[in-house]
Amino acid sequence: MALRKIAQIGHPVLRETARPLTQTELASREVQGFIDDLVETMRDASGAGIAATQVYEKLRIFAVEVRDNPRYPYKPRYPLTVVINPEVTPLSTETFSNYEGCLSIPNLRGRVPRHAEVRVRGLDRNGGPLEFEVRGVSAGTFQHELDHLNGVLFVDRMVDTKSLCTWDHFERFEKERFISEVREIVARWGS
Ligand code: ZN
Repeated sequence: MALRKIAQIGHPVLRETARPLTQTELASREVQGFIDDLVETMRDASGAGIAATQVYEKLRIFAVEVRDNPRYPYKPRYPLTVVINPEVTPLSTETFSNYEGCLSIPNLRGRVPRHAEVRVRGLDRNGGPLEFEVRGVSAGTFQHELDHLNGVLFVDRMVDTKSLCTWDHFERFEKERFISEVREIVARWGS
């Protein structure tokens, strides 16, 4: 396994659309090794998720995992989930305001409206079918990662750019309010 370099905003690869994988490609040693690298890179950078395009591979693969994360201490835990050829579909019109950060956008956070309940479909890393529902804050993470595979960054989804702030200023001015919002989201949606 190896750590991959993470592309930063402004690099054209972050604006490209990733392509789907075939079952044969997915089963290859190369792609399986890449998935290991992707997960290792996410964990090393304390990301809550990572998409293949963020490490310069234009393949439709992302990973999500939240353990005790120093970048997002208030985020509900979510087990390691790797999705190949993902589809993310809203289950209702309900949305919430998520304060997002991104490994490809250094030192900035901002508010993004996200669907509160989604269905995720795709393949697991062994090529088996995956289908599950995600609600609340974790649903925002899946939408953020899917966006990466379509060349979209969270700043493109912001409705009000006044909420853009550095990580220090998030801590100072925004964190307390957002943590109480997260508590309400978790109470309502369970995650
Ligand atoms: Zn991101």
